[in-house]
Amino acid sequence: MTKPVTAWQTYTPEQMDEVMTTADEYISYLSKGKTERRCVKEAIALAEGFGYTNINEYTENHKPLKAQDKVYFNMMDKALVLFHIGDEPLADGMNILGAHIDSPRLDLKPHPIYEADGLCLFDTHYYGGIKKYQWTALPLALYGVVFLKDGTHMDIAIGDHPEDEVFVISDLLVHLSADQMKKNAREVVEGEALNLLAGSIPEKGVEKDPVKAAVLRLLKDRYGIDEEDFISAELEVVPAGAARTCGLDRSMVLGYGQDDRVCAYTSLMAMLETSTDHRSRTACCLLVDKEEIGSVGPASMQSHFFENQLAVIMDLMGQYSELNVRKSLQNSTMLSSDVVAAHDPNYPEVSSKNNCAVLGGGIGFAKYVGSAGKRSTNDARPEYLARIRQIMDDNNVIWQMTELGKVDQGGGGTIAYILANYGMDVLDVGVALLNMHAPFEVSSKADVYEAIKCYKAFLQNMTTVAPRI
Ligand code: MN
Ligand code: MN
Repeated sequence: MTKPVTAWQTYTPEQMDEVMTTADEYISYLSKGKTERRCVKEAIALAEGFGYTNINEYTENHKPLKAQDKVYFNMMDKALVLFHIGDEPLADGMNILGAHIDSPRLDLKPHPIYEADGLCLFDTHYYGGIKKYQWTALPLALYGVVFLKDGTHMDIAIGDHPEDEVFVISDLLVHLSADQMKKNAREVVEGEALNLLAGSIPEKGVEKDPVKAAVLRLLKDRYGIDEEDFISAELEVVPAGAARTCGLDRSMVLGYGQDDRVCAYTSLMAMLETSTDHRSRTACCLLVDKEEIGSVGPASMQSHFFENQLAVIMDLMGQYSELNVRKSLQNSTMLSSDVVAAHDPNYPEVSSKNNCAVLGGGIGFAKYVGSAGKRSTNDARPEYLARIRQIMDDNNVIWQMTELGKVDQGGGGTIAYILANYGMDVLDVGVALLNMHAPFEVSSKADVYEAIKCYKAFLQNMTTVAPRI
């Protein structure tokens, strides 16, 4: 059924409890996973708890892989693939869940630290699509890694521990904003003005840039890092603070990075919570980096690492051939999950009437995304959509059919088209958000719950729809 009611109206008291418990676990994951590296780390900890083993244990020990084995591959600490091997030959295809774990943020530049007018600041370059004015005047945290020339590294996490200091980007006081307020929103805060306030005490006895000198000394004392070490660093500025329950009825989640960690977490949990199933068809869960900047780079969906890893898996099972890898990919079926836009009563004019997602309406299916006349999108086949409708309805999943927004209001992309390039059936799916890409985004706890139900039903029931090759 497409949106007769919200999911809330269908729940028994027992289900309401489950929805709330699931949301608590999700909130905890989201609060810990402020960067893609942290999401990978948390996901591995969860997966190992459900009996998944690092694939290295097989490759390094020449241990054969067999049906019902559960393995994961950690790609550079920035992407993760999990396989639960089924009885059928891999060439017959897999059921794949995919989502991205990078989120919009501000990255420190390679030479970030400078002093201006008696203050020390960190220079940033924003990552992904943001409204720059939303990132000023709110507490910010700094997360990431700094690699030293000897290969050792420091993990940095400042701003989320109760005793931690936080950072901020200053905005102009309203009293002196006569000129600024005339600018259009794109220019109100310029990219080069996104500089983090990092210190204000001058180092005694230093004449040139004494405040910067004091901050550099703190960095050396606390972390053992020098100014030049920022060259080999990956430091991300994100909103400080944990994800929270939102609304008097406690029905929503407010938190940073729900695009697309809400889909990553729910895909992962569906995979893990069905890990005691006896699988006939291999299940796969893909959590990837760099979607927000076009899925480029070695741990992204455009990278060949997934295909390479599939070849390794098949080799360990004695099923490898170039042809079998190609067959496996084309015979696979995928739910590519990325958040969709929820109808916003504050901005109803951008919603596509009859085709917009509502908060609490269940997991959203998007036949296509893209922009300017469906450009650059995977447009799912009706044959595949029909099968998915059947599976969802058979398993009492509450779902809704969605479009990103009104025609020609903008648009967006996902990783769906990249997997579709292999010839597999792919559908865009996702949890609806309010204020997507803002420092704090809103999701419905009901949609989080329905997402997990949807992914489980898919893993347990989908088979190849296209003619097998
Ligand atoms: Mn996004
Ligand atoms: Mn996304």
